[in-house]
Amino acid sequence: MTRILAVGRYSDVDAAALAAMGAQALPSAAALAALPAALRAEVHGVAFMGHESFGAAEMDLLPALRVIANFGVGYDNIDVGAATARKVLVTNTPEVLSDDVADLAVGMLIAQSRGFEAGIASVRSGDWQRRGPLPLARRVTGRRVGILGLGRIGREIADRLAGFRCQIHYCARTPRQTPGWTRHGDPLSLARAVDDLVVAVVGGEETRGLVSAEVIAALGPDGVLVNIARGSVVDEPALIAALEQGRLRGAALDVFWNEPAVDPRLAALPNLLPLPHVGSATVESRAAMGELQRRNLSAVLAGQAAVTPINAP
Ligand code: NAP
Repeated sequence: MTRILAVGRYSDVDAAALAAMGAQALPSAAALAALPAALRAEVHGVAFMGHESFGAAEMDLLPALRVIANFGVGYDNIDVGAATARKVLVTNTPEVLSDDVADLAVGMLIAQSRGFEAGIASVRSGDWQRRGPLPLARRVTGRRVGILGLGRIGREIADRLAGFRCQIHYCARTPRQTPGWTRHGDPLSLARAVDDLVVAVVGGEETRGLVSAEVIAALGPDGVLVNIARGSVVDEPALIAALEQGRLRGAALDVFWNEPAVDPRLAALPNLLPLPHVGSATVESRAAMGELQRRNLSAVLAGQAAVTPINAP
C-alpha cells in the first residue's frame, strides 16, 4: 500500500485536496515517531508544510519514503543531503509565489520609510488631533537599493523598485542579465554602495549571518533593512543593537531567528516593522503552491518526473 502523510497545518482547501489523494494528516514531523511502525513502513510520500526541521532522523522513521513534496520555495529546514543519500526526491514550489513575496518586500520598504505604523497609530489613538502631525518620513523613489540574492524573488523586487526609479545594486554569486544594475561580489561591498538593503537569498548554513554587524554598520543611520528571506541570514543581535542605538534608521522583517517566538527586545523596537512570515500568504499564492505540491507528489508516486525537483537522487 502507498501511503501519503500530509505533515503540517494546511488550510481546509489543501487538507481536503490532500485527503482526496488518500493522504493522512499529521500535525507536525515531531508526531512521526508516535505512528505505528507498520504504518510508517508503508509511507512513500510526505507532503510537507512548515518550518520545523525534517532531517535524517525523520527520514529514517519512514524507510520506504520516495518523495518529500515541500509546500514552499525555501527548503533550508529539509536536509536535502540526507534525502539524496536515502534516494528520496525533494520538491518545492518556486515561481508561483514570487510576485506576492516581492509585493510584500516593496510594500514593507515603503511602509517603513514612510512611517505607516506610527501614522496608523496616530489616527487610531486620536494623537493626530491631540498632538498634531508626525515627524517627516523619508522617500523611497530614487533611493539606491541593494538586493542581496537576485534570484526569482530578488529579480521581481528589483523590477518593481526600478519602477520607482531606484538605482539597483545586487549581490549574487553568478552575474545576471540586467538593464545595467551594478553587481557586487559580497554583501559588504553591496551595503557600502546603497541606501537600503533588501534580503532575498536562500536560507541555510551557507548564508547564515551574511548580513553581519559590519554589513549593518555599512548601511548606516539613514539605511533601512528589509528581510523577506530567512531570519538566519541576518545577525539578529547586531541588528537589535543597531536599531536600539539609532545606527540603522529602520528594519522591516517578515522572518526572524526563532520565529514564531520573536525576541521581545526586537518586537518592542519602534523602528522595526514586523510581519509574521506572510510573504506568500495570499489566497492566490497558497492555492498555486498547494496545487504544485500535489502535482509533484502525484508525479513522483506514479513513477514520472517531478515538476520542480530540488535534488536528483
Ligand atoms: P532562488 O531563485 O533560488 O534565489 C535565491 C538567490 O540566493 C539567488 O540569487 C542565489 O544566487 C542566491 N544564493 C544562493 N546561495 C547563496 C550563497 N551561498 N551566497 C549568496 N547568495 C546565494 O530563490 P527564490 O525563489 O528567489 O527564493 C529566495 C528565498 O526567499 C527562499 O529560499 C526562501 O527562503 C525565501 N522566501 C520567503 C518567503 C516569505 O514568506 N517571506 C516566501 C518565499 C520565499 P547565486 O546562486 O547566483 O548566488
